[in-house]
Amino acid sequence: DQEVADYMKSLAIRVSGFDVPRPIKTFADCGFPVPLMNAIAKQAYEKPTTIQRQALPIVLSGRDIIGIAKTGSGKTAAFVLPMIVHIMDQPELEKEEGPIGVICAPTRELAHQIYLEAKKFAKPYNLRVAAVYGGVSKFDQFKELKAGCEVVIATPGRLIDLLKMKALKMLRATYLVLDEADRMFDLGFEPQIRSIVGQIRPDRQTLLFSATMPYKVERLAREILTDPIRVTVGQVG
Ligand code: ADP
Ligand code: MG
Repeated sequence: DQEVADYMKSLAIRVSGFDVPRPIKTFADCGFPVPLMNAIAKQAYEKPTTIQRQALPIVLSGRDIIGIAKTGSGKTAAFVLPMIVHIMDQPELEKEEGPIGVICAPTRELAHQIYLEAKKFAKPYNLRVAAVYGGVSKFDQFKELKAGCEVVIATPGRLIDLLKMKALKMLRATYLVLDEADRMFDLGFEPQIRSIVGQIRPDRQTLLFSATMPYKVERLAREILTDPIRVTVGQVG
């Protein structure tokens, strides 16, 4: 009946791209190190959500990804968990090199939510996470960035301001996440996003998440991602 049909549609999974890694069934399948597994258990995340099952092995393999899934589907952990693994695989930061992980989100509320999620998984590794958005003292953010941090979570406008102020360099940024890309475009951040991406080394891994894929977002994705795998979960409006 209709209800069942709608339910099946909501579960619809489409994956495209070449050499797509197989989805995982459990967090243990990801081969996460023990401290990360413990942090996941502490969150009472029993099993990965649909987008996480598809996205985690793709991102952990180092591939670029376009992830399309509705709000509440667990996209944050899909990019935060592999980010921790990515950072722990890198040599330690030298002073003033700038972050390894850079996450852009459309609003301060969303940036703050990602910050809280990232902190939980960064904690066992003592990674420093900075949240950078409007409404908070630029001076304090400047000092925090100057002191060094492995992860920056930012709204595009404030990140550009701080880059202009030379609060941070992006010499080591190799993991870039654009979260809620469609909303960032709705808010007019396309120029800022392009400027930020242009300042990050081309050998980065790039992840783009969005609830919808309007033409402009599609065009950006084509320009800034390398051989991405596209994962769509559910019906996209
Ligand atoms: P999205 O970014 O797709 O809107 P979030 O990452 O904000 O979704 O996750 C939505 C909620 O689901 C959050 O409260 C988060 O803590 C929770 N969550 C994420 N992954 C899992 C999981 N594997 N099991 C249970 N809850 C989860
Ligand atoms: Mg989200």
